[in-house]
Amino acid sequence: MSQSWKRDSWQSFEARHLPAYEDEAALQDATRTLKSYPPLVFAGEARALKADLAQVARGEAFLLQGGDCAESFAEFHPNNIRDTFRVILQMAVVLTFASKQSVVKVGRMAGQFAKPRSSPTETKDGITLPSYLGDNVNGIEFDAKERANDPARMVRAYSQAAATLNLLRAFAGGGYANLRQVHQWTLDFMGRSPWAAKFAETADRIGEALDFMEACGIDPATVPQLQGTSFYTSHEALLLPYEEAMTRQDSLTGDWYDTSAHMVWIGDRTRFDGSAHVEFARGIGNPLGMKCGPSLEPDALLRLLDTLNPKREEGRITLISRFGHEGVEAGLPRLIRAVQREGHPVVWSCDPMHGNVVKSESGYKTRPFDRILSEAKSFFAVHHAEGSHPGGIHIEMTGQDVTECVGGAVAITDDALGDRYHTHCDPRLNAAQSLELAFLMADMLNA
Ligand code: PEP
Ligand code: MN
Repeated sequence: MSQSWKRDSWQSFEARHLPAYEDEAALQDATRTLKSYPPLVFAGEARALKADLAQVARGEAFLLQGGDCAESFAEFHPNNIRDTFRVILQMAVVLTFASKQSVVKVGRMAGQFAKPRSSPTETKDGITLPSYLGDNVNGIEFDAKERANDPARMVRAYSQAAATLNLLRAFAGGGYANLRQVHQWTLDFMGRSPWAAKFAETADRIGEALDFMEACGIDPATVPQLQGTSFYTSHEALLLPYEEAMTRQDSLTGDWYDTSAHMVWIGDRTRFDGSAHVEFARGIGNPLGMKCGPSLEPDALLRLLDTLNPKREEGRITLISRFGHEGVEAGLPRLIRAVQREGHPVVWSCDPMHGNVVKSESGYKTRPFDRILSEAKSFFAVHHAEGSHPGGIHIEMTGQDVTECVGGAVAITDDALGDRYHTHCDPRLNAAQSLELAFLMADMLNA
């Protein structure tokens, strides 16, 4: 790894899963435009998230990270943003109430577009086309023109991310997230879930606690933590030309930040030694996530940690394990032990989604709720056994009433998957399944 970092030094490293752009002039045009646009986040906000994550690393808080597998231009709608935001709020309330720890809320939102794919091409009815790589690269329709990589899509993705972030900021600070509204966060269609009633009970108890505070002379209107919430954004920093264009030097500290999101992560397929994605990430000041799957050896993890966090800053690194429900016991302890031995401060988070994809009988890609739950349970059990803090959860979810993951209390059956299967990539937990997971995890946090 070279010592001098520049925002484009990644270009001389091996970059996997990046689109090839045929029209170099169009690419230059798009990145020049992006470079002239305002940053989406301010470096100070990224530092605030790092401080919150440092608390998680110390075992004093919990990280909740969730949102779409892939945001899309087609599903861009204020109601979708609002519904995902409110399910995350509901989950956070459930987890906070049960664990008495603060919950750091990070959306996979406002920039989660680019996708690594298992195959560069897709074949249907004898026709082979390039795979869909996310709406900021090409189109999902199985059509040669749509599947061509178009750099101008990056500029559209920026605009969508800006508008999404604007609404999220408004919800977080403008009254929607006020704890007095906690009853209003329940979505109508959730009435069918037994967990909706349990949520109403929790909401009642929160209301009573607020009434009690008021009776004691504390006006909740004067307590900022009750009036609004902190909400951060994140995505996989996969599309490096976009991330490079959004990387700016902070005028306060002189450090470089990727201003496309508060936090970015490196995917399981791009975290190898000598990777362009690792080279890019090491130079930015944002908190970083890194996916840790079964192919990651403890030594390689330690080398990556030394590269990405040489100063061993707390809150800088979140390791997101994703072993699959049967792989946690074999894979996770050796990573935890290596990290503990070297004394690297990290947040340990669990992605119970990406190791649990199965093809259903009906042909849909799905994730059984039981397996998701089982991976989360093993994650908690292993951390409790190793004496480390099970610090967070990373999920693909939506506030919509979709039918993408089978199972849960409002049991989605294999036959029902086709009813509302809307995802642009991997299957997401729907609102009811997400809330159910939060309640079941609350028990694990207290175990
Ligand atoms: C993802 O989080 O969307 C993803 C592709 O995960 P992973 O890198 O863990 O496979
Ligand atoms: Mn995914």
